[in-house]
Amino acid sequence: MYKNHSEKLDQIKTGKLSLVDNVTGFLKLIESEKEINAFNFVFEKDALESAKVIEEKIKNGTAGKLAGMVISVKDVLAIKNKPLTCSSNILKNFESIYTAASIQKLIDEDAIIIGKTNCDEFAMGSSNENSAFGNVLNPVDKTKVPGGSSGGSAAAVAGNLCDASIGTDTGGSIRQPAAFCGVVGLKPTYGRVSRFGLTAFASSFDSVGPFTNNVEDAAKILEVISGHDKFDSTSADISVPEYSGNLKLKEKLRVGVPKEFFGMGLNEEIRESIESEIVKLKSAGHEIIEIDLPHTEYTIAAYYILATAEASSNLARYDGARYGQRTEVKGDLANMYTRSRSEGFGDEVKRRIMLGTYVLSSGYYDAYYSKAQKVRRLIKNDFDKVFEKVDLILSPTTPTTAFGIGEKSNDPLEMYLGDIYTASANLAGIPAISIPIAEDSNNLPIGMQLMAKQFNEIKLLQLGQFIINSSHE
Ligand code: GLN
Repeated sequence: MYKNHSEKLDQIKTGKLSLVDNVTGFLKLIESEKEINAFNFVFEKDALESAKVIEEKIKNGTAGKLAGMVISVKDVLAIKNKPLTCSSNILKNFESIYTAASIQKLIDEDAIIIGKTNCDEFAMGSSNENSAFGNVLNPVDKTKVPGGSSGGSAAAVAGNLCDASIGTDTGGSIRQPAAFCGVVGLKPTYGRVSRFGLTAFASSFDSVGPFTNNVEDAAKILEVISGHDKFDSTSADISVPEYSGNLKLKEKLRVGVPKEFFGMGLNEEIRESIESEIVKLKSAGHEIIEIDLPHTEYTIAAYYILATAEASSNLARYDGARYGQRTEVKGDLANMYTRSRSEGFGDEVKRRIMLGTYVLSSGYYDAYYSKAQKVRRLIKNDFDKVFEKVDLILSPTTPTTAFGIGEKSNDPLEMYLGDIYTASANLAGIPAISIPIAEDSNNLPIGMQLMAKQFNEIKLLQLGQFIINSSHE
């Protein structure tokens, strides 16, 4: 096998690896590991056809930057003429008529799209248990959840069912499953990657980013998918740095450690692993600075008010008339809407629509929605202030390692509280990465989160790479 995409390319160029065999191998493994349920759809024929064409291109030197990288795509992103279900019954038979900007960029650089991955319905959840396609198993321990909402993506990468996956992160849905499955997960700055063709959940939070087995591949993918897009007015018109050629950490960093992220509820083994990383960073000459993020305790409340408010508005478009599932009720339009939505949406999505509608309703808007917007600003101010004196912030990604299937599914509040360390980066719009640093006593992966100032992804990648490399020394 190869350790990253550059090595894979070399092996293909020198004839040591056949890209067609490589894709065939992934397809076989997807089939034999079907019980993991990572994929909603597998594009067997297309993937094999592209493998043939791209293998030729690699050999004659005309292939793109991601040549032959085999990538799966969370089923909330559009690919022309392919199903787009968001793991929901309401979009059961829906096919996209165009391709998401981020995915088109992968295709243009000769990546191979192998299929669409399972996820929580409309990306709402932390365990992949809210999917009309059934839950996903964590390949590290099949009695555990893979995390969510991009659970299929994390499981596909951890289970070696593809080289990389594209997921989305609104409150932690890339970083938390990456931590649970022991892979790298990167949530870029809000606006770094176009959201065109991404099914909207909470539009002011949603970000698209990669899952990979190593930092080099995350850097390559980010470089390709980033950039301004005229079809997404919130995408930033800021040039894209060369991430992949620039991973060597050349300076000593000031690393902030927020004490609010080490309080009650943090699993002891996770705390110990993070602390031992801190010791290593110190001895490597980096400066560790204790910092305050005083509004951390309001993160979950603010996130779940604002994200559900946006969701209730975004999901109004599924009315039975325009997309997907329609329950025919002759001569009664209002009832057709009601029945289509009642039958099409799952329980968690309905809960979010009700919560969101409530916080936006007249009489409650000021008390909840406006208040939460103000708190969002305070949380962002906390980060701005801290980034005046540190380059990066380091924390656990999650308070626990992967939990058992069914363990939290009857307790939504408990499930929501698991997003405590990830959701603040979305509230502030800053980039964050989760990298695997250790395993607990049950061999479950432990993830460490790094957060940086807006558009400072390069620092996340450099320190992430440094930490992974030093743990192999
Ligand atoms: N777990 C969070 C939620 O349920 C985050 C989801 C996400 O990032 N898409 O909303």
